[in-house]
Amino acid sequence: MCVLQWGIRMRLDIHKDFPILDQNIHGRPLVYLDSAASSQKPKAVIEAMTHYYEHDHANIHRGIYTLSERATVLHDQARDRVKQFINAKSSAEIIFVRGTTEAINLAAHSYGRSQLRAGDEIIVSVMEHHANIVPWQMLAASVGAHIKVIPLLPTGDLDMENYASLFSPRTRLVAITHASNVLGTVNPIKKITAIAHAHHVPVLVDGAQAVPHLSVDVQDLDCDFYVFSAHKMYGPTGIGVLYGKQALLENMPPWQGGGDMIAQVSFSGTTYAPLPAKFEAGTPAIAEAIGLHAAIDYIETIGMPAIMAHEAALMAYAKTRLGDIPGFRFIGMAKEKVGVIAFTLDDIHPHDMGTILDRSGIAIRAGHHCAMPLVMSLGLPAVARVSFGIYSRRADVDALVKGLYAVKKVLA
Ligand code: PMP
Repeated sequence: MCVLQWGIRMRLDIHKDFPILDQNIHGRPLVYLDSAASSQKPKAVIEAMTHYYEHDHANIHRGIYTLSERATVLHDQARDRVKQFINAKSSAEIIFVRGTTEAINLAAHSYGRSQLRAGDEIIVSVMEHHANIVPWQMLAASVGAHIKVIPLLPTGDLDMENYASLFSPRTRLVAITHASNVLGTVNPIKKITAIAHAHHVPVLVDGAQAVPHLSVDVQDLDCDFYVFSAHKMYGPTGIGVLYGKQALLENMPPWQGGGDMIAQVSFSGTTYAPLPAKFEAGTPAIAEAIGLHAAIDYIETIGMPAIMAHEAALMAYAKTRLGDIPGFRFIGMAKEKVGVIAFTLDDIHPHDMGTILDRSGIAIRAGHHCAMPLVMSLGLPAVARVSFGIYSRRADVDALVKGLYAVKKVLA
């Protein structure tokens, strides 16, 4: 155990829970600094999924035999666990999808096409991931709606005054990220929803970068939709969640048709299943739901307060160490940040930096990070980004600092 500065205890051997981290890349110990793109998976998640395939797999809902019943119970339990994790009112409000991207597409397709008309407006921010821009652009193009964009302050915080001024009688939705995947900025979602609701406008929150780092309580945030991906929170790829307030979801039409989402099918007409099945056509990602359940158990065993304290301490350490490197420039200096640091170093192209660091076993990300409007607004062709997870350590930061000095030397 190590006692962190907040007096919270965190196991020192968390790194050991992640088998993938125990390897060399190009002869050097792997330093994984790309958790914002996808986190690594603890043994507990891998084993839960393997156990399911070795003992319990069958298709859910359809069977009257033991294996199918077992798989159905496990899948239902995963939904209940997600409900608890984000404090939804009901498991009916938890729709399993492929990930954040699919969740937003579902909302745009079903809610958007049924509610928006020509001349209506959608508010997004300049810091959105493409997943929270493009589906709204597609919707806007198909119904004749317009998109309004909240700008940022020089710190990387949202310009909240500007946000409040964007509403008009035609505003129909606010779609905003909880935490930026480039700047790390954590947005004041409670304030954002309060302002939107004063105008009777619902809010969709992209929680992809928030759920691994913050305690999320959808009732407290009072958001109307909340979306996230399991693979960024130590769970598997291929599954994510669309949370929606029950009344909203009930009024929304299904977006995909097929098995499992129906009540009755005949050639004279089809009726749909109640929530959540109405939005889950076809065989779902069963093992992945079980993996997500295990990931939530893993996170909660360590505890979100301990995770947040660990990441805050690591961010403080990284800021000091990296800030000492001549030519290092932080992009995004908001006070409230998750464990994400975007940066430039001298005028070295981030791709060159990433390639040279990889030779030392250090994995960082470089480019536009699926946030082209944001990176372009910074006047940069690309930025480098490091991001932390539960398993990240001071030693990773030390290796990065050493690696960046080596990059400077190679490219001097
Ligand atoms: N939103 C944000 C803020 C993200 O960081 C990401 C992933 N980089 C996404 C949406 C898309 O998530 P996924 O690819 O899992 O659908």
